[in-house]
Parts: sequence; structure tokens; C-alpha cells
Amino acid sequence: MTETQKHAAAFRQIIKDKKQFLLLTHLDPDGDALGSACGLAYILKKMKKQVVIGLCESLPVRYEFLNRDESLRFLQHERINLSKYDAIIVLDASTPARLDKFENQIKSLGSEVCLVNIDHHGDNSRFGTLNIVDTDSASASQMIIELLGARALDVNSAWCLYAGIVHDTGSFRHGVNIKRAHEAAIHCLVFPVDSKQVYNRLFSLETEVALRLFSRALSRLNVAERGRIVYMYLVDEDYREFKAEPDAATGFVNRLVMLEGAEIVLFFNEAESNIIKVSLRSNIEFSVGDFASMFGGGGHVRAAGCRIEGIMEKVIERMVKALRLSLEIHDRRNEAKGQG
Ligand code: 5GP
Ligand code: MN
Repeated sequence: MTETQKHAAAFRQIIKDKKQFLLLTHLDPDGDALGSACGLAYILKKMKKQVVIGLCESLPVRYEFLNRDESLRFLQHERINLSKYDAIIVLDASTPARLDKFENQIKSLGSEVCLVNIDHHGDNSRFGTLNIVDTDSASASQMIIELLGARALDVNSAWCLYAGIVHDTGSFRHGVNIKRAHEAAIHCLVFPVDSKQVYNRLFSLETEVALRLFSRALSRLNVAERGRIVYMYLVDEDYREFKAEPDAATGFVNRLVMLEGAEIVLFFNEAESNIIKVSLRSNIEFSVGDFASMFGGGGHVRAAGCRIEGIMEKVIERMVKALRLSLEIHDRRNEAKGQG
């Protein structure tokens, strides 16, 4: 049996044996975080299991479409007692710190508690009692399909897991092993999943507020290193001025990636006063995940993030300076490779 087959067998056994499940995912959950959690929740419900999805904040409006028949149960942190569940499954989160308000409770669980960690991030700390980490998978949602097989799916789970794959691959444009991502997605499209609607829900700017906020961010477009580094920012006053929700800027960074010549793209977002969430994207073989880890964050080669406390101007200055240096090292290495 290969490692992958062993993992799949162990995971299948757990979902067969246990009855009450708690599903958790990372803070500021995105389309893969919630796509994998909702998709797995629908699979478990089909198996007549009890399942709750634990969140730190309420479900973002953008992702309400994943709760397709409104039968999924979401509970906020304060209302969850971890010891009530037979198994806890953590999706798309590389470390307990990514679980935000659940961090301390997860860290203090005894080894007798069944804690399954399903993730595709390279910096995963293997904090579960069963760790299924596949860095060759483009999304956690794809992993659920591969672990449980196409026969586990129904229309609701297919819809959610497809959304997760579309999210993390930027609609099949990037991500590791894109062939595998397509193969998993095709199992979802056996069902009447409306791929156009999924795309629009995930990536379209559908509110006036979001468009105005985007226009503000664009008005602060900056380029450095002759266009190789591109960045923009939003401060907390912008959110107040437009009466925008904290998640209104979801996906803004992905729009900058399209700029010709841009190699590394950054979006500095002060959604909370003095806490700056930085989203990074790379168009080249430079790992923004490794770069973000120098600032306490993480992620993948092409997409990563971190949170930095401080004043916007200072944070931007510090990070762009560090990025210039890292790019210089990257260039030198490439040159050496070319010559060698
Ligand atoms: P986004 O920019 O879309 O929020 O995140 C892009 C990728 O980076 C995702 O895979 C996400 O999980 C990861 N990421 C974002 N912020 C952080 C962070 O603060 N810490 C870590 N470890 N990963 C992050
Ligand atoms: Mn993911």
C-alpha cells in the first residue's frame, strides 16, 4: 500500500466509525477553505453523520452559496465545545495558529482525540493525529475528492468541492499539477454544477461598494524595480468611508496579477486598525510562500500571505525593501544556473 492509499484508508475508516464531526478551517476563510469544509460536510450528511462547521466569524456573504440547500450547520467559536465531537477535521490550514480563536483549544487537545489535518500547504506542521498533507494537490477540496472517491459525491458536495478547486487554481490558470486538478474537477461536473455561476460568485465584483473600494486601491497603484514589483493598499479609513465589510476586498490582489510585466504582486490591506494583511502573488518561479514566512506568514509558491502589525507606510517600506533583496538573490541564482 502506498502512503496515499494508507491515508485514504485511515480517513475512510474514521468517517465510517465516528458519528459527530466538527470541521474547522483557517481564519479569513477563502473559497477552498469553505469549499472543502462544506463539500465534506455534505458528504458526511449523506452518510447520515452529525456535522458542524466551526467558524471564528459569521459565514461571509460571498460564500453563502455553498450552503446550497441551507441545511449545513455553522457555529461560531463561542458556541463550540470541542470535547463534544468524536472527530475534528481541519481543512486547508497549515498550523494551529491559522485557526485563530480555535488555536489554543486545538493545541491543548490530548492525543486520544481524533484530529485529522487535511492540507496542501508546504509549511504544514503536522499537528493532527492523522496528517494528510499533499503539496502536489492544488487545493484541499481536490484532496477530499481524491481521498473519498467520486462515488462519495452528490450534487451539493460536487458544487462546493468544484468551487474550492476553481478558487485555488484561479479558475484552472495556476497551481501545482493542474492536470490532477482538472481530473478531480471532472468528477464534480458529472453533476449539474453551474461552472459559470461558481466562477461569478467567487471572482466577480458584484457590489457597488466593492467596485468603489477597488477603484480606491487602484488609485494607489505603485510599481518598483521597473515594473517587476507591483503593489497597492487600502487603509481602515477607506473601509469606513465606503461602509465596506472587512471581506469586501476579497480577490483584489488577483486582478493585479494580470498587469503585463508584473512578477510579484502585493496587496496591503488594513482591514483592522494597524493590522495589515498582506496578500502576495507570484508570476515567476519565486516562492512568495517562503518570502511571507520571513514575516511570520506562509502559503504556496504562487500565492501567500502574512499579517503584520504596524503603520501602513512603514510596513510597505520594510516589505518592498526585503522583496527587492530577495529578488536580487533569486536573479543571481538564476544567472548562476544559466552559466553553470
Ligand atoms: P490570500 O492572499 O488569498 O489570503 O492567501 C493566499 C495563500 O496564502 C493561501 O493559501 C493562504 O492560506 C495563505 N496565507 C494567507 N495569509 C496567511 C498567513 O497569515 N499565514 C500563513 N501561514 N498563510 C497565509
Ligand atoms: Mn487551499
